[in-house]
Amino acid sequence: MSDIRDDARRGFAETFGHEASGVWSAPGRVNLIGEHTDYNLGFVLPLAINRRTVVALGLREDRVLRVASAFADEVAEIPLAQLVPGELEGWAAYPLGVAWALSQHGADLAAVPGVDLFIDSDVPVGAGLSSSAAIESAVALALNDVWRLGLDRRTLARVGQLAENEAVGAPTGIMDQSASLLGETDAAVFLDCRTLDSQVVDLGLEAAGLAILIIDTGVSHSHATGGYGARRASCEKGAQMLGVESLRDLTVDDLERARTLLDDETFRRVRHVVTENQRVLDTVRTLREQGPEAIGELLDASHASMRDDFEISVPELDLAVETAGANGALGARMTGGGFGGAAIALAPTHAISRLQVAIDGAFAEHGFGQPEMFVVTASHGAVRE
Ligand code: ADP
Ligand code: MG
Repeated sequence: MSDIRDDARRGFAETFGHEASGVWSAPGRVNLIGEHTDYNLGFVLPLAINRRTVVALGLREDRVLRVASAFADEVAEIPLAQLVPGELEGWAAYPLGVAWALSQHGADLAAVPGVDLFIDSDVPVGAGLSSSAAIESAVALALNDVWRLGLDRRTLARVGQLAENEAVGAPTGIMDQSASLLGETDAAVFLDCRTLDSQVVDLGLEAAGLAILIIDTGVSHSHATGGYGARRASCEKGAQMLGVESLRDLTVDDLERARTLLDDETFRRVRHVVTENQRVLDTVRTLREQGPEAIGELLDASHASMRDDFEISVPELDLAVETAGANGALGARMTGGGFGGAAIALAPTHAISRLQVAIDGAFAEHGFGQPEMFVVTASHGAVRE
């Protein structure tokens, strides 16, 4: 099997006609628990996965940036002096947006050398595993090194987010970049979205004989944009009516009062966020005190909350989660923004193939398209290879 790093080096040489001087990589991520809590300034617990985006880089004599990707035919080229967020288009807005975002954190675009970048990846694009954070984090780390900026990883996560918000125009939080830059082998990243404090939490999956199966339903997020906006609006309304800055400021004990003050729908949206924050805290504590065998119920409860209270699941995700639970998984939940995308199941490694057969069968029986399934392991964050 050819290695993605070799592919990137080869692609670089073929595209630019000289050898790359270095290779950097950054992983995609999956969120173990903590959904729609980020913009409510709460808690999330993602992990970096063993699928990576690789950047091969070579310095140039002039002051031009060129970027190419194994996924795209055209090479994008722009003088450093012309890097403006509004001018960047298509996939190249991700890497070029990162170069611009670095200038907002101290890089002097009038002084740094031009670079050629070639990007290759085995992170599935658009499957909810954050190929976008992987490309941003790999490029941010690479440019931070060769431009000798000395920015720390938390700042590089902000750089990736700024690129995605301003250059790409996607209003995303900082979870994905934090996982991609701060993740460690067999561990998750516990992130406080208010303070941006993060802690690495050991998962201990391998020692426990457990694995995480991704079940990508292939259902596209057709209501994703509208549904996401509507959920955010409900959360803001709930916070305002309850007199708090964000839903982060509420605890499970506040829910009784919330029920009397809010309409039923807003109450259920609020209840999801408040209980989900508590489940993230409980998952971190359970991992530390009892190990990963004990978190299954929290994953199941998270799914039920998204299905019934936040109403962002779809029948395919519910079926994947139910079938996993009935066939040996310790817990399962949809992951990501909802309205499609993927579910995760935590299961004994020996039960994974049985699980896959059962899920395939259940999808066929319901007339749903075949899901893509693969095991992921918790991997290390961005590195120079
Ligand atoms: P995801 O859930 O995978 O993050 P996004 O829509 O946020 O989905 O980001 C996917 C986009 O990121 C792609 O459409 C493309 O523009 C860009 N992208 C990700 N990986 C690559 C890559 N290896 N090469 C070129 N562009 C990429
Ligand atoms: Mg993304």
